[in-house]
Amino acid sequence: MEKIFEKLKGNSRQGQELPLINDVMGENADKKTAVVTGGSGFLGSHLTDLLLSKGYKVIGIDNFITGNDANIAHLAGNPDYKFVRHDVTNYIYLKEDVDLIFHFASPASPIDYLEHPIPTLKVGALGTHNALGLAKAKKATILLASTSECYGDPLVHPQREDYWGNVNPIGPRGVYDEAKRFAEAITMAYHRFHGVDTKIVRIFNTFGPRMRLRDGRVVPAFIGQALTGTPLSIFGDGSQTRSFCYVSDLIDGIYRLSQSNFHEPVNIGNPGEMTIKQFAEKIIEFTGTESQISYHPLPVDDPKVRQPDISRAKAVLGWEPKVSFEEGIQKTIEFFRGHPDLATFVKK
Ligand code: NAD
Repeated sequence: MEKIFEKLKGNSRQGQELPLINDVMGENADKKTAVVTGGSGFLGSHLTDLLLSKGYKVIGIDNFITGNDANIAHLAGNPDYKFVRHDVTNYIYLKEDVDLIFHFASPASPIDYLEHPIPTLKVGALGTHNALGLAKAKKATILLASTSECYGDPLVHPQREDYWGNVNPIGPRGVYDEAKRFAEAITMAYHRFHGVDTKIVRIFNTFGPRMRLRDGRVVPAFIGQALTGTPLSIFGDGSQTRSFCYVSDLIDGIYRLSQSNFHEPVNIGNPGEMTIKQFAEKIIEFTGTESQISYHPLPVDDPKVRQPDISRAKAVLGWEPKVSFEEGIQKTIEFFRGHPDLATFVKK
């Protein structure tokens, strides 16, 4: 088993057959079982680590459309972990009892969902339907990973959960935004109509180790450019704002929500807002790169502002972020320094 994972480390292999890995889970009747769809992705793999540390058995499900097997390589041989390679837009069958489901499967970065528009719509709609069906059949709690993209290009700032958003349904980003809005709608319908115990987290930009260098999100893009001495590409004039949450804070908030009795959406993100230009300058400072900044046209429907109002998370979950931007970004830069993908990373 270890040997198989040694071979897999560092390689993402979409479309190739993987050997069955950790396909049997140990018998431990005392432990609760959690399912994580999208379990080999950036967030799904961090969530899996937290759940294992909290004493859960975990079943990860993923089809590797954007995931990376290196993210779960360290779980090889763990008797509390089982991995199932499966596309959740198809019926999900598990023989085990299940207590808690985290539905995280979905392409998540703009590059990914523009490259996979129909799988993105399908996983938001059919995948969420199947995950809810599993929750209903197993009488399990289910938590949906939704997104700040539900607010679109927001006319209310910062964004509170009772703001309904400003989304262009037919723009290129609509495949992701509307898939998640549908996912929220069907989740609430399963809660109201079938009495399923559901939770919805609206995740704001999150960063940390295990992101993919080339996933098109600004954090790995800037770090990759800085570490390879290429110019940091800003789209527009750089005055658009983003708020960045470190991954351990986000996962802590999500875990708290899963243990709560709250069924309406909850924003989890870091309200510390900065412009993209300020962010680029910080990456230049922290990496010590010689790279300059280059400016490019703004993509269609790029949100101009993005900042979570986290009053609900504070009140309901007692949660707020703890990791400073500086600490989180240093850890992320260290993860990418010397990363094998840097050798082929050139992003203009
Ligand atoms: P990711 O691409 O790293 O992970 C998503 C995982 O889902 C991948 O491993 C992918 O292979 C898998 N997947 C996609 N379609 C699937 C399918 N049909 N069947 C099985 N597996 C499938 O992205 P991430 O950043 O970890 O995002 C995880 C979730 O969080 C997504 O639902 C995303 O929309 C949401 N989210 C993330 C952020 C963020 O900042 N990272 C922000 C908002 C929302």
